[in-house]
Amino acid sequence: MAKVGIPRTLAYYTFYPLWKTFLEELGFEVVLSPPTNKKTLDLGVQETVNDACVPIKLYHGHIMALKSKVDYLFIPRLVSADGKSTFCPKFLGLPDMVRFSRNDLPPIIDTTFKVRKFRASIFSFLNTVGKRLSASKASIIRGYLQARKAHKKYHFLLSKGLFPAEAMGKLNSSLGEISFPQSGKEKLTLAVVGYPYSIFDPYISGNLLQNLRKMGIGIITPENISLKNIKKMETRLPQNFFWYYSNRAAWGTLHLMEKSGNIDGIIHVTAFGCGPDAMLNKLLELEDKNHNQLPFLSVSIDEHSGEAGILTRLEAFVDMLAHKKQSEGSREI
Ligand code: SF4
Repeated sequence: MAKVGIPRTLAYYTFYPLWKTFLEELGFEVVLSPPTNKKTLDLGVQETVNDACVPIKLYHGHIMALKSKVDYLFIPRLVSADGKSTFCPKFLGLPDMVRFSRNDLPPIIDTTFKVRKFRASIFSFLNTVGKRLSASKASIIRGYLQARKAHKKYHFLLSKGLFPAEAMGKLNSSLGEISFPQSGKEKLTLAVVGYPYSIFDPYISGNLLQNLRKMGIGIITPENISLKNIKKMETRLPQNFFWYYSNRAAWGTLHLMEKSGNIDGIIHVTAFGCGPDAMLNKLLELEDKNHNQLPFLSVSIDEHSGEAGILTRLEAFVDMLAHKKQSEGSREI
């Protein structure tokens, strides 16, 4: 069975169930790169220019981990997922960046992903991928229907508070058996915002989410907000970003600021070397000042940030919030 490799980063957090289901229905084995570790990052750093952002360096590391194990690399040219904004320019150039970085790579499936109306555009994208892989019309249609189902279920699970890895783990179980992570008894609830590939990669984020959960903190991220609610924030800013993930992070955070009365603080995870993030971080800070002035912490990640340094900052932030909450509670009495 021919193998198709998918890197476990960037758009993986948004589209993996869709892509994987489709490719498997066509009869391919999908090989996911292993979770990020020091070696992945070191290999990525070697393959990229110095001033690339850390997620792009990491992507190259995941390619290196896959290249000798698969017959194809799946690196679609990600242009737009909503017909309005585009992905950051580094996403647009990914297939070329990877192709010209090495000359020992398997063939790259670099079909353009440019969605306007989701259903029709997704079919057209998957149809092109299927034809490129010489799949039959019947298997393409079957794959498309199954892939849409998996994508929908994945986003439903995210909207119930699961993290991507948890939602992917539950995709094949029935919805009735799923226990959702937030118990409502957490001592504090934090909004952890930013790009999914920065927040949810345990290695690059210094285990930020896992450490917060260990401290008994409830967490909500923009990925946990339904697409319907995210879209409602589309007209909220005088000027939106040009970039898909920046808009998602901004709209998701605005939704949390406006609608969730139970958020005690915000952590923005930013990627060192990311141009869009420089603007996004400032915007979120200003919006926070204009709203409920929640305590706001920016955590910048790069290839040198270690878990211990991030953990110290988290502990200090959580202590400060717990103290604040306690003194506000005693004042009310
Ligand atoms: S949005 Fe920022 S972090 Fe993401 S790929 Fe672009 S430059 Fe890198």
